[in-house]
Amino acid sequence: MLIHVKDIPSSGKEISAQFGEKDLDWGSSDTEIEILRPIIFQGKAFKSGEDILINGHIQAELKVACHRCLEPFEMNIESDLDLFFQPLTSKEEKEDLEDVSSEELEILHYQDNQINLSEEVRDTIILEMPMRLLCQKDCQGLCLKCGVNRNLESCSCLQEKSKSNPFKEFFQKQE
Ligand SMILES: [Zn+2]
Ligand SMILES: [Zn+2]
Repeated sequence: MLIHVKDIPSSGKEISAQFGEKDLDWGSSDTEIEILRPIIFQGKAFKSGEDILINGHIQAELKVACHRCLEPFEMNIESDLDLFFQPLTSKEEKEDLEDVSSEELEILHYQDNQINLSEEVRDTIILEMPMRLLCQKDCQGLCLKCGVNRNLESCSCLQEKSKSNPFKEFFQKQE
């Protein structure tokens, strides 16, 4: 979804938008993400000169695969967004701005008088995702030997030696 800077009056503009599967490009993420319901964005855009500030909130219901057992599970993400944009002008100016980025509010840039809100929504969701996606806190994962999902089935592999190192054989061969 594109926001046209010219459409934002000095008094600010309410923005509510929904983002479906087609609106968001997950290309840069290696996690497979399925959108169960359109992601809801609600917020307001403010303009001061050429600077644009967008405050908002997103709600997403997603389906992702558990990192341990690979089973898909549903996950909700809610997050506040505070986005500060300046127009991208000449290259030198951009470099100057990058020095300021150590400050709390990161400066984003817009081009051609347009702000691509879809990209910001996608990036926020990727940032909000935990590093380890687990279907449940104590997911048992898959058995390294026979591959059964140990949340659903038990296997006898583990009884052999509970703390056998799966890399043991590998290291022995190296010696
Ligand atoms: Zn799991
Ligand atoms: Zn097993």
